[in-house]
Amino acid sequence: MIMIVKSAEFVTSAVKPDQYPPPQLPEIAFAGRSNVGKSSLINTLVNRRSLVKTSRQPGRTQLINFFVINQAMLLVDLPGYGYAKVPEAVRRQWGPMVETYLKQRPSLRAVVLIVDIRRTPGIEELNFIDWLEANGVRCILVVTKCDKLSKTQQKQSIIKISAELGIPEGQLLRFSAKTRQGRDAVWSAITQLTAAEVPAHD
Ligand code: GDP
Repeated sequence: MIMIVKSAEFVTSAVKPDQYPPPQLPEIAFAGRSNVGKSSLINTLVNRRSLVKTSRQPGRTQLINFFVINQAMLLVDLPGYGYAKVPEAVRRQWGPMVETYLKQRPSLRAVVLIVDIRRTPGIEELNFIDWLEANGVRCILVVTKCDKLSKTQQKQSIIKISAELGIPEGQLLRFSAKTRQGRDAVWSAITQLTAAEVPAHD
């Protein structure tokens, strides 16, 4: 199905649960290593150039940002992890803040985990996927920056990433913010999960 984005607006930023918006709409959260292309993915999904500001300053306070789409679902930008230049204090805050969100958010339908097609995923990604599974949170895997590699190289990379993560190749969604390749497939994965509890007659 083709997703038509009629409206996309920033709702609020939060560090702790009492700052989250009310959990009234189904919600999809986005996670990935800093610089992986998370902002670009969300902006491409919603057809806005800079709804989500790219994170150029790794040292600043990390926040969970909520956006409302078509007044029907929330997209949540989780702070990027694994940035070497992030001060220790900020890094220590990431785990608990994100873990609290993922554990306590009743409206959360899935996490979109983004990895770079040119990079073999590391321990952070493996741990994160294990943690999501252990906590019953669904995961949509998006492999981004596909435009950086040839079709043949993409195929080889997908095989490697699939083996490393222990996730079937067919579950890795290839994406590029530059060419918009994969945008519809990512929306399909999202709407399948956000529509799950919408009454059939609606
Ligand atoms: P974030 O830190 O994860 O939010 O990453 P950004 O979305 O800010 O992207 C980091 C850098 O990668 C920026 O220079 C983007 O222009 C670039 N980038 C993001 N997605 C793509 C993509 O699909 N293709 C290419 N070629 N560059 C991308």
